Amino acid sequence: AGKYSTLGAMPTERTFAMIKPDGVRRGLTAEILRRIELKGYRTVGLKLYQIPRETAESHYGEHSAKPFFGELVDFITSGPVVAIALEGENAIAGWRSMMGATNPANAAPGTIRGDFATSVGENVTHGSDSPESAQRELALFFAEGELLK
Ligand code: UDP
Repeated sequence: AGKYSTLGAMPTERTFAMIKPDGVRRGLTAEILRRIELKGYRTVGLKLYQIPRETAESHYGEHSAKPFFGELVDFITSGPVVAIALEGENAIAGWRSMMGATNPANAAPGTIRGDFATSVGENVTHGSDSPESAQRELALFFAEGELLK
């Protein structure tokens, strides 16, 4: 048991990923699913989904006091999203790293937001930021029978 004993034993996680309405409208769905497949995450749930307003308000509950909350809920319910359940080693941080920074101006080239977005409001994708939010968001967007075991 040395310094490197945990290498190769990273946690298998599930995370909630989403292609937001701007990504669907702009025809980026196939490109984003392609990147997920090439990265090697397993897709264990996948659906095109029109988010009900209450679900959107609950999903973004932590931002309910922010000035942009109303616009954010309007935007995320403005058209269908692609809801994705991903599984893989360190999938939570890994998917967020593939998305890039929230503000596309700070998102590195090669990331989804760095390559495809210019606006903080319409930044193409979502990803859970912790194991707790992953669990909460997966349960909010998928019924149990919709996720592979
Ligand atoms: N957002 C916004 N204006 C802001 C900050 C955030 O419209 O000033 C939106 C943006 O779409 C972002 C979402 O709110 O993706 C959630 O914000 P968060 O800080 O959780 O960023 P994320 O986890 O999506 O990178």
